Amino acid sequence: MRVSAAFSRLLDLEGIWVWQVQFFSDRVVVRIALRRRRLRCPLCEFSTPHRYNQQAVESVWRHLDLGIWRLELRAQLRRLKCPQHGVRVEGVPFARHRSGFTCDFEALVAWLATRTDQTTITRLVGIDWDTVGRIIARVSADQLDRDRLENLFEVGIDEVSWKRQHNYLTLVADHIRGQIVWGTQGHDSAAANRFFGQIGKRRSHAIEVISLDMGPGYATSARKHAPQATIAIDPFHVVALGNRALDDVRRAYWNKLRELDDPDAARRFKDARWSLLKAPDRLNDQQTQTLTRLRAAGGEVWRAYTLKEALRAIFKPGLTLQDVTILIDRFITKAQRSRLRPFVRLAKTIRRHRDGILQAIRLGINQGRTEALNNKVRLITRRAYGFHTAKAALALIMLTCGPITLHPPHELHIPA
Ligand SMILES: [Zn+2]
Repeated sequence: MRVSAAFSRLLDLEGIWVWQVQFFSDRVVVRIALRRRRLRCPLCEFSTPHRYNQQAVESVWRHLDLGIWRLELRAQLRRLKCPQHGVRVEGVPFARHRSGFTCDFEALVAWLATRTDQTTITRLVGIDWDTVGRIIARVSADQLDRDRLENLFEVGIDEVSWKRQHNYLTLVADHIRGQIVWGTQGHDSAAANRFFGQIGKRRSHAIEVISLDMGPGYATSARKHAPQATIAIDPFHVVALGNRALDDVRRAYWNKLRELDDPDAARRFKDARWSLLKAPDRLNDQQTQTLTRLRAAGGEVWRAYTLKEALRAIFKPGLTLQDVTILIDRFITKAQRSRLRPFVRLAKTIRRHRDGILQAIRLGINQGRTEALNNKVRLITRRAYGFHTAKAALALIMLTCGPITLHPPHELHIPA
């Protein structure tokens, strides 16, 4: 077998032939040509037998490594004149428009990005993190299920902080499929308006339930664009606010200890954070012990803890709407009288959203439903902190939590 034939076989790329293979110190350069006579526009379905002219410089794509060798494909392409897009370099079947990588290479990067961390990927494939971001944005745009915005009946609109605290993304979950189906930058009513704008009136009016957090922005937009939908406050958010109130009390108390010049106690208390915030049945031995000590110490932190646990207990599965109604009202009273400022504030918030919370219980939305998806989104968003664009961060979220099934490249090549 000749070298060029061997490489044609090795590459396993559609519609090309290899005419030259060169070895350099750091890479193998494979020169290829397209088999087809017709030229295709890279942006649309247009094709033509007429060439406009020849590209002056070669196009270069990186393909999957060959052993320890970096593999580069090069081709001198033709240019065509598309009635819609003007004069363009012809599209190739093995790479996306304007990409310097083959689809196989991009499939590998996208698959890795959903499964492992930044350092592992950038070292393994030898590209920087922003390049990873551009690759996954292309893969996501290309492979996202186009029908994902059809048949949305129960959606959740939620924000997630990206990069630093003041950067937010808005995500829309399809609760029936348990997936994120849409995302944008920002976290106000304008962000939600963009979602309703994109799905249009027909689909907005088919939504039956919208679950939200307790902020005002999304609710305003939801009432305007989907007035028929029931608005429910996802219990997940209520419990999260309880955790935040407890953490505020804990931090204030810790600062007080520090001011009292009791560094030892302060340190003991700082370690207690997870003992307080985690569900009691998920604590390890050390944390259980810390919790026991905190109970013995009593005081405001312990009172805050019992309030947070009481709030969590309201949304356990198995309680009736009547049970929950009584428990919520009892919680509001208790929190109001707690003399703990974060909990007094929380009581006010919960009272204001009492109807929406009860609506969720009536619809069978419990805390566990969104928790798993939320945890996944938060984990992935942290991995996306290193990206410089929201587009890349959103692409990573969609690839991981959205309606896309990714495959590593060898699974995309069915053996002959
Ligand atoms: Zn075109």
